[in-house]
Amino acid sequence: RPAIVWFRNDLRVNDNAALLAASSHKQVVPVYILEPAANTRAIGGARKWWLHHSLAKLGEKLADLGAPLMLMRGDPALLIAGLVEKTDAAAVYWNRRYDPAFLSSDASLKDALRAQDIVVESFAGQLLHEPTRVRTGNDTFYKVYSPFWRAIEGGIEDREPAPAPDRLTALANAPQSETLSDWGLLPTKPDWARGLRETWKPGEDGAHERLDEFVSERVCGYASLRDVPGVESTSRLSPHLANGEITPAQIIQALKASDADASPKDRTVFRKEVGWREFSYHLLVNEPDLPQQNHNSRFDGFPWKDDETALLAWQKGVTGYPIVDAGMRELWRTGWMHNRVRMVTASFLTKHLMVDWREGERWFWDTLVDADPASNAASWQWVAGSGADAAPYFRVFNPIIQGEKFDPDGDYVRRYVPELANLPSKFIHKPWTAPDDALAKAGVHLGETYPMPIVDHQQARNRALAAYEKIKDAA
Ligand code: FAD
Repeated sequence: RPAIVWFRNDLRVNDNAALLAASSHKQVVPVYILEPAANTRAIGGARKWWLHHSLAKLGEKLADLGAPLMLMRGDPALLIAGLVEKTDAAAVYWNRRYDPAFLSSDASLKDALRAQDIVVESFAGQLLHEPTRVRTGNDTFYKVYSPFWRAIEGGIEDREPAPAPDRLTALANAPQSETLSDWGLLPTKPDWARGLRETWKPGEDGAHERLDEFVSERVCGYASLRDVPGVESTSRLSPHLANGEITPAQIIQALKASDADASPKDRTVFRKEVGWREFSYHLLVNEPDLPQQNHNSRFDGFPWKDDETALLAWQKGVTGYPIVDAGMRELWRTGWMHNRVRMVTASFLTKHLMVDWREGERWFWDTLVDADPASNAASWQWVAGSGADAAPYFRVFNPIIQGEKFDPDGDYVRRYVPELANLPSKFIHKPWTAPDDALAKAGVHLGETYPMPIVDHQQARNRALAAYEKIKDAA
């Protein structure tokens, strides 16, 4: 009897344990279900764009293997049960997902199917560790990154990625699939996805191209260059990971096998970054409210400002601080932002503007192609100071110094804030200090072609620290 393999955020055929298990059955029915927003937090616009293309690519790969992907919309519990009946399937397989929104619904579906003597198996793959199984000596979850990393590091090379199945046999008379283009995942008017199309190649092949490029070249110097946003020095694997087009085990093994001239430090630092993704899921699974609730409840009393104008200026990249504006515009144009600049822009929103980190988290959720329930929430809380093992609140990134340190020649700012492109480097991160003739020569008219800073750095910093003082000693 046939097996159903239910694809979720694992849009790949390689290292896909669920697909491999299904391939041992005579016939296979691969299915992807678009779930109603009511079941969970709806994915944002940028990820919808990605999902459309990734599903198209997965569909091609599965068709080549012999069993086309079936697309359905609705409640998975009902649809999977219906599909089992229609196809007379003996088994249902899936890879585990760790978003708490799905954990209990997946578990109840498993129970319901097993009660009907259907074989149901779920597999690991999305992570290198099982978030509920890794525990401290006191039998709690880890709230600090370094001991967490020490606890899992030794095991991260253990899993050998599985190959793709050689071939699959489709079920004759499989139920009719919906049509991807009817799902409305792509933007229509305005078509804001041009920059995304120019930047990314969604799908498993695109993921492996990025990985190969990274482990053969870019990993050399990663430890120092990863902080320089003007140079493409990081792997840019995050959207591929978010959609499960590649697994962390494939990445770790490719790094191990790479004979690139990377220093041990380059390799270790990269592995540790992959470890931050693991840690974020560790936190999310153990604290399901992470995207909504302060980890540190002291922040519940923080006097966030309800400032629509400031939020809009931040979202549009017109704050008057070039490194912040470049980051926000990179995000809007490409659906991705360099990690260093994510930290600077998030700090600017939560500290200089004192806007609640949840507003920033929501904006990133909608605009990032790698929007991830764990990494986004954990990172926002980390920057805001409310998170587990967070940056202390009093560490307020200075956007001028950050710019001068990590984008010394202004390459990054010039790319995303072209109205400043002709300013000399010494003024590129603080155009308001440039003499009139330098501004005129560069064609910059402050307040017209580029804004004056919407807040004064020193005053904003003092204001944020004073607000923090008030909650610091709260229980
Ligand atoms: P690389 O430097 O090549 O790192 C390799 C992989 O390690 C990444 O693909 C990612 O999976 C993981 N990683 C690296 N840094 C981190 C980190 N700090 N936290 C968690 N995982 C990490 N990452 C997301 O994947 N999705 C998000 O929604 C997200 N939101 C963020 C929001 C804020 C405010 C901040 C400060 C960071 C956020 N990050 C998020 C983490 C990080 O910025 C991105 O993972 C990274 O920039 C992706 O680029 P890369 O693939 O080139 O990273």
